[in-house]
Amino acid sequence: MNQMSGEDVNSDTELANRTQPVLPPIRQVEGREWWLWVFAVAVTLVLTFAILSLTFPGAHPQTDRIYALNLREWVRGLAALVLLFDIYTIYQHFQLQRVRRQLAERDRLFQLISENAADMIAVIDRNGHRIYNSPAYQTILGYSQDELNTTSPLQQIHPEDHALVLGAAEKARLTGRGERLEYRILHKDGSWRVLESTASVIRDAGGETEGLIVVNRDITERKRAEEALAHNAFHDGLTNLANRTLLLDRLGRALAISRRHADFKFALLFIDIDGFKVVNDSLGHDAGDALLIQIALRLMSCLRRSDTVSRPQPGNDDETTFGDSTLARPGGDEFVVLAEELRDPSDAIRVAERIREKLITPFDVDRHEIVVTASIGIAFSSDTSTEAQGVLRDAEIAMYRAKSTGKARCEVFDNAMHAGALKRLQLETDLRKGVERGEFLVYYQPIVSLRDGRIVGFEALSRWQRPEGMVMPNEFIPVANETGIILSINQKMLPEACRQLRAWQALFPSEPPLSLSVNISPKQFAQIDLPSQIGQLLQQGGMDPRCLDLEITETIAMADAERSAAVLAQLKALGVGLDIDDFGTGYSSLSRLQAFRVDTLKIDRAFVSRMDSDPETHGIVRIIVMLAHNLGIKVVAEGVETELQLDMLRDLGCERAQGYLFSKPADQETISKLLTTNRPGMSQVFAQGPQH
Ligand code: C2E
Ligand code: MG
Ligand code: MG
Repeated sequence: MNQMSGEDVNSDTELANRTQPVLPPIRQVEGREWWLWVFAVAVTLVLTFAILSLTFPGAHPQTDRIYALNLREWVRGLAALVLLFDIYTIYQHFQLQRVRRQLAERDRLFQLISENAADMIAVIDRNGHRIYNSPAYQTILGYSQDELNTTSPLQQIHPEDHALVLGAAEKARLTGRGERLEYRILHKDGSWRVLESTASVIRDAGGETEGLIVVNRDITERKRAEEALAHNAFHDGLTNLANRTLLLDRLGRALAISRRHADFKFALLFIDIDGFKVVNDSLGHDAGDALLIQIALRLMSCLRRSDTVSRPQPGNDDETTFGDSTLARPGGDEFVVLAEELRDPSDAIRVAERIREKLITPFDVDRHEIVVTASIGIAFSSDTSTEAQGVLRDAEIAMYRAKSTGKARCEVFDNAMHAGALKRLQLETDLRKGVERGEFLVYYQPIVSLRDGRIVGFEALSRWQRPEGMVMPNEFIPVANETGIILSINQKMLPEACRQLRAWQALFPSEPPLSLSVNISPKQFAQIDLPSQIGQLLQQGGMDPRCLDLEITETIAMADAERSAAVLAQLKALGVGLDIDDFGTGYSSLSRLQAFRVDTLKIDRAFVSRMDSDPETHGIVRIIVMLAHNLGIKVVAEGVETELQLDMLRDLGCERAQGYLFSKPADQETISKLLTTNRPGMSQVFAQGPQH
C-alpha cells in the first residue's frame, strides 16, 4: 500500500512538473479578488455607518423632529438596501468562485487525461497553429515541446498525406464531426510512423469554430503486423514469391486490361521442374526446399534482367514484380511467370528460352550437384479463357503437353489442347461414374508355353464396357492412374481375376497350375501398403502365391531404384513372381533387374512385331533373351502375331509368348471354351467370339 501511495506521489509530482497550466492558478486569482472584495464591503459598511450616524439622536436640532424622523426612516431604508446589496454581492462572489472552481477542476481533469493518455492529444486553433500538445508527442515522436510549439503541424506530416489531413480538418470544421484518418508522420529519428487520428471541433458561444482537438494514436506496429499478415496471405512462405491467390488477382487485372485495350497482350508461363520428386525423395525435403529457393532466385534474376518483356518501374520494390512480370509459386515445384505488355507472342517464348538456359547450370544443394530441367507451358491473353483460373489452367495444360512429349520443353497452348483438356475432364467424371456403375470388366489374354504350345497362364486386362461401346485400356488407364481411379478399378478387378483363376485351376488342373499376371500401375506401386494389399488378396482368394505374377514396367521400377528394390523385396517375400513389362521401352540395365530379383522379362511388342522383318531388331531380341537367361531370368514375348515370329522366338529359346496369334484378350466365357481345347499345339487355335 505504502509503496503504491509513494509511487502515486512520485507520479503526481512528475505530473505537476509536466503540467502546462491552461489557466492561471485559481488560488492566486481568488486571493486577489478576496482583498478587493473585503475592501469594497468595508468601504460600503463604513459609508453606511456614516450615513446611519446622521440619524443618531442629537445629530439634529429638536425643532426639526418631524424632518429628523423622516430622514431616519429614509436613511435606515437606504442602509438596509446597501446591506442587501452587500449580501447579494457576497452571494454572487461565492457562486462565481464555485463555477470557477468547477471549471478549474475540469481543466485539471483534461490535463490529467491528456497527459496520462497514451494517445497524442493536440489542440489546434482556427489558424492551424498548435496551442496545446500532450506530452505523449514527445514520448512517441521524440520532439520537445519547444520544437512542437515552433513548427507547424504540417511540417512533420508526410507530403503525400498533406491533402488528406487538410481535407479531413476542413471537413471536421464544416460538419463539426471528425472522421477517422490514417496518415504518416515523421519521427525525430527520421523514420515514418503511422497515426490514426480523430478530430473534434471546439466552438465558441456563438457556435463559431474556435479550433480542433485532435487525438492521434500511433498504429505503426499494428500496421506492420497487418502488412505482415497481408503479405503472408499473398506470398509463398518458402520463396517469398507471389502465391496462387496473388497470381490469380494479378492475372484477373491483366485480363481486365486486355478486355479494355485490344493491343494489351500478356502471357502466362507455367514452369514445372522435371523430376523434382526424385530430389525430394532421395535428398530429403530440406534439400528439396533449398533447391526450390535457389530456383526461385535464378528465375527472379532471369526476369529482372529481362529487357524484352519487362519495363523497369522505378520505386516498385515488390520482390515479386519485375517491371511488368510477376513471378509466383502457386505450389510444389511449379512456378508461374505473368509477363505483361508483350510486343509480340515470340517475346514470351524468348522468356521461356531464357528460363531454360538459366536452369542449365547445375545447382549445389548440400554439396550435391543437381541438374534441373523445366517443362514450360505458355498461354496467351488471346486464348479462349476469359477467367484467371482458365488462363492458368490453359498454361498448365500446355505444360503437361511439354512434359508428356519429352520434358525439358516448352509448349504453347492451343485450342486443340483446350478441347483435349475438356475431353479429359469428361473422361475423369465418366471414369468415376463407371466405377460406381460397375462398368469395368476383366479380360484375359492367354500366355502360351513355347515348349509345347499349351496355355500356361493369363494376363488380366481391364475393359471398360460403356453404353456407347467397349473402351480400351490405353484410353483410360493413364487417366485412371493419374487420378488414382485405377485403385478403385483394381480393387474390384483383382479379386475377381483371382476367383476366376481358382475356378479354372480347379476345372483344368495342370502342373504347374495355371498362373495369373496382373499389371501394377505407377499409382499402385507408389502405395506404401502394396505388399500388404497383395498379401491380403492372396489370403482372401486362397491363392497359391506362385500362381500370381505382378507386372511392373521398367520405367516404374527404375524411377526410384532404391525404393523399388525395397518394395520388390517385400513382394518377393510373399512368394509371388515379378515380371518386367514392356521391356526395351525404358532404360533399365539388366544387372539392376537381377538385383531386383525379377523372374521374368516381357519383351515389348514393338521388338517382337519387327523381328521377322528387321534383322537388327531380331538381333536385339536375341541379345535380350541371351542376357536374361545368363541372369537366370525367363523371357515372355509380347504381341506375337505371326508364325514366323513364333518360330524365331522358339529358336532363340524364349520360354513363353502372348499375342493375337494365340488369342486376343477375351472374356471369361470365351477363355473357358478355349481352355477345353488347351492341348499342345495351341498356336493353331484362334479364339473366336467377342474379343478385343
Ligand atoms: P500390357 O500390359 O503390355 O498388355 C499387353 C497389351 O498388348 C494388351 O493391350 C494386349 O491386348 C495387347 N496385345 C497382346 N497381344 C497383341 C498382339 O499380338 N498385337 C497387338 N497389336 N496387341 C497385342 P490392352 O489390353 O489394350 O492393354 C494395354 C495396356 O494397358 C497394358 O499393356 C497394360 O499396361 C495396361 N492395362 C490394361 N489393363 C490394366 C489393368 O487392369 N491395370 C493396369 N495397371 N494396367 C492395365
Ligand atoms: Mg502387362
Ligand atoms: Mg506389355
